[in-house]
Amino acid sequence: MKMQNVVIFDLFGTILIEESHNWNNGLKHIFDMYLDTDDFNEVLSVAKMFKDRNMNNRSITYEEPKMIDQIKLFQRQFGFIKETSIDDVEFEFLEHSRVVSLNKGVKEVLDYLKKESVEIYIMTNTIYSSKAIRRYLDKLEVAEYVTNIFTSSDFGYRKPHMGFYDYVFSKVNYNNSLERKDIIFIGDNLTKDAIAGRDFGFRTVLLNGLKDSLIHIDKRIIITKNMLDFKQFLVDEFIYISGFLNNYSISDGPGNRLVLFFQGCKRHCKGCQNEKSWNRTEGKRIHIEDLVIDVLHKLNKYTRNITVSGGEPLDQKSQLISFLKKLKNFEINICLYTGYEFDEVDLLILENIDYIKTGEYIENEKNTTNGYYGSSNQNMWMKGEDGKWIKMIER
Ligand code: SF4
Repeated sequence: MKMQNVVIFDLFGTILIEESHNWNNGLKHIFDMYLDTDDFNEVLSVAKMFKDRNMNNRSITYEEPKMIDQIKLFQRQFGFIKETSIDDVEFEFLEHSRVVSLNKGVKEVLDYLKKESVEIYIMTNTIYSSKAIRRYLDKLEVAEYVTNIFTSSDFGYRKPHMGFYDYVFSKVNYNNSLERKDIIFIGDNLTKDAIAGRDFGFRTVLLNGLKDSLIHIDKRIIITKNMLDFKQFLVDEFIYISGFLNNYSISDGPGNRLVLFFQGCKRHCKGCQNEKSWNRTEGKRIHIEDLVIDVLHKLNKYTRNITVSGGEPLDQKSQLISFLKKLKNFEINICLYTGYEFDEVDLLILENIDYIKTGEYIENEKNTTNGYYGSSNQNMWMKGEDGKWIKMIER
């Protein structure tokens, strides 16, 4: 089953910045183009009735009306002067009432996520249908990035209603491979997006334009200043893994060990037994803190040992260092498997591990007698009590 990686965006204030919002401009447009009446005041009073009935209590009931219903009401009341689809009228109303531009840096974030094969969704509070929003985004040349759009109007309730979050999660998690914590949700509203999303179980990002950035206000909400800082968060704080070995192993380093496989390897050794691990984006993107928690859950009282293997863990060097440092706080014995030679390994990595298997896999030197090595040119090193590294088998 393909591993899914998902980011959900709020729309207004997040992907789009609103330059102006004038409901009457939308009304004037459909009055001029479609409605069979000469009296704009009549149109205004029908619109006011709709607003009073459906929109004044929204912040209490969280119920979301549909713009489509307003247009149907106009059609019943006045009739249309020409044949047209309700969807077209809705889109034109939206287009003429809200003037927007793309948030700075949003294209860069979307391009990055696309390159990393991350699925992009939108979850937004609006009276417009997802069809109208997609057409709107199409004009701004960003619709192609978005797998699906969920509007409160289509669902019937607005954020922070948990039913809306539940609905979106059930749609996004179409192959049941995701947990709520795997989903990153970015929005510009503290209560409706960041806190409600966090309470639902997503990892949330509050985009608020403040001077400081990437402030972790609790384990599952961070504040980011702008889209480019959000991108930096996506790059720095996530690791690609393919998963854990089902059982503990006695052949991936000394002792009984939990084994974690990083995803991605640029080395492409001839005869590699694990070519599926080469493409990083086929792995699961996991936040480093969540990975540490997963490791702690999986270790038990019989072993505090873990081996980090691959793929090639050093291909995600800065994330690996951050992961190892966090893990070391829990006094876990760490063994690292890498295809690099010992003297190519960063000191910050060596400081935070206890064993390391080094050296390229060479098919002609394939080794089946010592479980620690794939080929006999490779070495296993251990850190002595004095902190000096020694080879476990001298050759
Ligand atoms: S380093 Fe390991 S995973 Fe990467 S190509 Fe070589 S043998 Fe395969």
